[in-house]
Amino acid sequence: MSDCIFCKLVEGKIPSTRIYEDENVIGFKDLRPQAQVHHLFIHRRHTRDIIDLVSCDPDQLGDLFRAIATYTAKESLTREGFRLVTNLGPDAGQTVFHTHFHVLAGEQLGSFGA
Ligand code: AMP
Ligand code: ZN
Repeated sequence: MSDCIFCKLVEGKIPSTRIYEDENVIGFKDLRPQAQVHHLFIHRRHTRDIIDLVSCDPDQLGDLFRAIATYTAKESLTREGFRLVTNLGPDAGQTVFHTHFHVLAGEQLGSFGA
């Protein structure tokens, strides 16, 4: 999508610090980190959010989760743990409408939902 910043990032039209890359998925550092480790994982093919992804292109989920599992194991984030988050819509605070998963790690993360 031409007006999507993460599509532009996939195409290399805006800069990012990539930490993971394969034929389907890109991982990169979040511009405004909310934890010691804060990375975003996106599929190269555009979908708007997780519901759009599941209805239009569900194979992306396997690609994304495999990439996240590979990366977190390689970086030993699986040892102390990490949080995987996706936001959908205004109540959750979604600001970029290209499906993405936040990987948060590297410190004790605050509890939520209690
Ligand atoms: P969300 O609020 O779940 O839609 O998450 C969007 C995230 O994208 C936020 O954490 C932003 O800091 C991050 N972000 C926005 N633009 C960029 C960019 N150009 N490079 C890296 N991260 C970005
Ligand atoms: Zn996009």
